[in-house]
Amino acid sequence: MTDRLPGFNTLAIHAGAAPDKSTGARATPIYQTASFVFDDVDHAASLFGLQAFGNIYSRITNPTNAVLEERIAALEGGTAAVAVASGHAAEFLTMNALMQPGDEFIAADKLYGGSINQFNHAYRNFGWNVVWAETDDPSSFERAITPRTKAIFCESIANPGGVITDIAALSAIAKRHNIPLVVDNTMATPYLIRPFEHGADIVVHSATKFLGGHGNSIGGLVVDGGTFNWAGDDRYPALSQPRPEYAGMVLSENFGNFAFAIAIRVLGLRDLGPALAPFNAFLILNGIETLPLRMQRHCDNALAIATHLSGHAAVDWVSYPGLEGDPYHALARRYAPLGSGAVFTVGLKGGYAAGVKLVSNLQLFSHLANIGDTRSLVIHPASTTHRQLTDPQKISAGAGPEVVRLSIGLEDPADLIEDLDAALSA
Ligand SMILES: *Cc1c(COP(=O)(O)O)cnc(C)c1O
Repeated sequence: MTDRLPGFNTLAIHAGAAPDKSTGARATPIYQTASFVFDDVDHAASLFGLQAFGNIYSRITNPTNAVLEERIAALEGGTAAVAVASGHAAEFLTMNALMQPGDEFIAADKLYGGSINQFNHAYRNFGWNVVWAETDDPSSFERAITPRTKAIFCESIANPGGVITDIAALSAIAKRHNIPLVVDNTMATPYLIRPFEHGADIVVHSATKFLGGHGNSIGGLVVDGGTFNWAGDDRYPALSQPRPEYAGMVLSENFGNFAFAIAIRVLGLRDLGPALAPFNAFLILNGIETLPLRMQRHCDNALAIATHLSGHAAVDWVSYPGLEGDPYHALARRYAPLGSGAVFTVGLKGGYAAGVKLVSNLQLFSHLANIGDTRSLVIHPASTTHRQLTDPQKISAGAGPEVVRLSIGLEDPADLIEDLDAALSA
């Protein structure tokens, strides 16, 4: 091979993986072990002191997980990645490395509902204060910045679908104020959008969704872009100040452009513990091998279904950026030219009752709370995920009574259309 970098399809299959040295196994083995034997006493000491890379205990590193970590770092164009137990664990460990009690971070208001809960409620217990800004108005982020702002957080393609974030505009603001930009790239995956190319500093994923892609395992990833300069920056003591638990080592000095990933591992996974099971890492790796094929099919199917529904008599509106005339169409063409993802919302003319009826009558679509499966999925947020909110809160979260969210799978689009038409006219 020349020094030309391999293409995305090749990386999706090969990055991080090699035939197993001791057995020749071609698929990545599941290293189902809690712990690893040291060569000798000196080796053990150097591992514990972070002077050598190697495996101690699967809460911190595991060889199956390491392949997944290298693969996602390659696909995103980051310097290093850390596999963790879930998408929420990825968000939590990221904030844990950035925030001190009393600090603030600014989050885009269009986010996965679980992230909104995590930020509004769970994080308050740590003294981490979320400040909400408007996803569609980058200047609202700049206005919210204070001396205690430690991060800006957004999604690339934002929940509940149909929203494309202007990542470059948020990055310009983040850079002007020297604050890291964290992008949740779950809905887009690196096949559609690579946030580091638009100025993000850290990428987080729920690997549960399109990366794993088959609805069979919970997992998360943190990817270090290697772009943020932590050295000497007292606002980020985890990165820039001597760590007493590692004999005074300063992570940014020792690990340079992958110090953030090291912090997630040695301060996050080691001390807080949300490790990914190697079996889940194996399933997610298998999913990633077909990510480019699946994502293209997801997007093509979603566009076909969105186009059909936008002309349907029972449908009031369809929010899918792939549709011409959609308010996010221009941003979609700029950031995600290959497709606008597979998750979107529709508003039914019949309101709440029509939403309930639709989810009850669909046969091929599964009525459940997830996205990014090979199977097509449906949920009526007002009666499920968002039912505890007041009506005005539901509407501002994009979960009004008439709203149904679809996650389009890989079935034949004609079968999905037939299922939707039958359920809408039932
Ligand atoms: C599902 C999801 C999460 C949370 O991930 P889990 O793996 O369920 O913990 C975070 N962000 C987005 C965009 C998601 O869709």
